[in-house]
Order: sequence, then C-alpha cells, then structure tokens
Amino acid sequence: MQQAVVDHFTALTGVAPAGVWAAPGRINLIGEHTDYNGGFVLPFAIPQAAYLAASPRPDHRWRFVSLDLDDSVEAGVDDLVPGESGWHAYLAGVVWALREAGHEVGGADLVLSSDVPIGAGLSSSAAIECVTIAALCDLYAIDLDPMSRARLAQVAENAYVGAPTGLMDQAASTLCTADHALFMDCRSLATEQVPLQVSEAGLEILVVDTRTRHSHVDGEYAARRAACTEACRLLGIDALRDVDDLDAALAALPELEGQRVRHVVTENQRVLAAVEALSSDDFPRLGDLMTRSHASMRDDYEITAPTVDLAVEVALAHGALGARMTGGGFGGCVLALVHAGDVVDISSAVEAAFSEAGFDAPVSFLGRPSPGARRLA
Ligand code: ADP
Ligand code: MG
Repeated sequence: MQQAVVDHFTALTGVAPAGVWAAPGRINLIGEHTDYNGGFVLPFAIPQAAYLAASPRPDHRWRFVSLDLDDSVEAGVDDLVPGESGWHAYLAGVVWALREAGHEVGGADLVLSSDVPIGAGLSSSAAIECVTIAALCDLYAIDLDPMSRARLAQVAENAYVGAPTGLMDQAASTLCTADHALFMDCRSLATEQVPLQVSEAGLEILVVDTRTRHSHVDGEYAARRAACTEACRLLGIDALRDVDDLDAALAALPELEGQRVRHVVTENQRVLAAVEALSSDDFPRLGDLMTRSHASMRDDYEITAPTVDLAVEVALAHGALGARMTGGGFGGCVLALVHAGDVVDISSAVEAAFSEAGFDAPVSFLGRPSPGARRLA
C-alpha cells in the first residue's frame, strides 16, 4: 500500500513524493460510552492504516486523491469551507483546522490509500485525518505535539465535516504505540501507554467484524447521551464520572436513567481494573472484564445487537478468555481475547453460527496492537 501511493503519486506528478506517512485505525479494548461522560477509554491501534504520499505545491492549490475511491478533488485555499461534503472533506478539514489555528500551510498534492475498512467502527475517518495532519506538519515544519494534532484532527471532523465525534479516535490514531493500549482520561485528556503484549502470553486479540449496523444508530446514540445528561441534572453533577456512590445514585434515579448510569459507572471501573490487570499481565482478569463489559452494554445500556451477542457467545463457548462488542453499538466489531491456538477454531465457529442464524458472513482479523501515526519515508 505504501508502494501504491508512491507509484500513483509519481505517475500523477512526474516526480517522487516528498514523503510518505501512515496512520492507523483503532479499536477500543474497553470503555464504551464513557468518553462523553468524562470517563476513561483504552483504545489501541490496529494493523490497518491509511497511507499518504505528499509533496507541497508552490501554487498554493490542493489536490486530494483517494486510490480506494478512484477519485480526485482539486481546490484552492478559498474553496475550503466548513460543511463541505464528500470524502475529501476529512482531508480538507485538516488543512482548514490548521489554518484556523494560525499555522501556515501552503498547498499540496496528497495521494491516499487505506486498508482500514470504512464504516466498520474502526475509525477509517480518524486514520485519514491523522495521516494528513502528520504529513502537513512535516511538510510545513509545523511544531505541534501529538495531542494538539489529535485535537485539530477532531476539529476537522466536528467543525468541517460536521460529525460530532469525541477525541478518542484521533488520539488513538496519533498517540498509540506498538504493543500498547492508550489509557485516556477523557476529562483531563491525560494519557498513558499501557503494555498490551498478548502475543508473548500465547494469546491473540481476534477481531470479528460482523458487518452489520443498524440504521437507527444515530438516534439511539443521541438517546443514550440524553439519558446521561438527564441523570446528571437529577443528581446535580457535571458528568457521570463524578458519581462516587452508585447505590445512592441508583436510588435517586428513575429506572431507565439508573440502568444507563450503572453501565457508565461500572464501565469506568472496568477500564481502571483493565489497566491494573495489564500492569501484571493478568489476562484472565482482562478477559473477565471484557465479558462483563459486554453484559453491561447488552443489559444496562442496551446497545448490542443479535449479531454481536452471538459472536460473543460463540467465542466464549469455544474457549475465549473474554469477549465484547467494541464501538458505539448496534453491530460493528467484537473483540475476543483468545489462545493463539484457538484463533482458527473460534473464527470458524463464529462463521458457522452466523451462517446458521442467517446473518451475513463476518470478517475476522488479528488485532495486534500497532504503532500510531508516523513518517515512513
Ligand atoms: P468510520 O467508522 O470508518 O470512521 P466514518 O463514517 O466516520 O466511518 O468515516 C468514513 C468516511 O471516511 C468515508 O465515508 C469516507 O468519506 C472517508 N474515508 C475513509 N477511508 C477512506 C479512503 N480510503 N478514501 C477516501 N475516503 C475515505
Ligand atoms: Mg469515523
């Protein structure tokens, strides 16, 4: 893929690119729907990444090319206006966010290709934003620390593309390192690299993309956020992060808000417990926390779906140490912590169960914790 973007760039412009960069997709090990509650998340970078070959342009114009979509968009700097639609808005948004923040960016040819599946909850959007900001910072000698880069990539997605997403995806794509998960406090934005060396323990993280997504996800997401906001109002706190007596909170809330709060509060506790488990390579405990997280999403937050519930159930029945849905919910991917020798058995068992249930065939891959955004050449 690196070679493909270089070759295409060279064929297009007649000269080799000034550089090549990569930024990965991400998956959340544990900590779902905690971000907008001021809580904790623990994502890691997946092997799939966006690759970008780029050179500055003296004429201050922009050319965005996606090999995957076989599309090319040219723009002058005055054409970059928030609210633009189309895939190139994610890249144009990064240019716009950098300029809004006062950084001098001239123009560039950008040739992109990515193997992060689109719309699978693996954040193909953050990958293409973060690879763009990495390239532009290098090409235009912009001195920005990794978290500031992630925040500008988020500005691109929120203000330019118009997608109201949190910071986790961009932080993970930018800050993750190989063999680590990234612990992030979504309130203070403090981060910590947590060792996640599953291979050395004879384990793998099997990712099952169920390739299902319900169409009402946006409305359900908004409803969960609204329930959390309402619970905070009733409890007189700013964020569910601040609930320190869960029983007292539950006693003060209507049943539905109580259920939602129980998920968020216990999920935050599980993230902290997972970090602790990883510090002592206690993988059985990590697996148990993952499975509990899934039960909490299924029963209290009510954001799972028949496909992901089935994948979790089958993985556990075939010897997984733990399994859970990851991402916003109502489909998407399942993570299973499995013995390396069980990978084939578990993925075929899930496939067979999906076929029997009449679901589309899932796609499985190994989620080896990979490096974040970087220059390759
Ligand atoms: P995801 O969960 O994968 O991040 P999003 O809807 O947030 O899903 O972002 C997907 C969008 O990002 C695509 O619809 C497309 O506009 C853009 N995108 C992602 N990967 C590519 C690519 N390789 N080439 C062009 N655009 C891409
Ligand atoms: Mg996205």
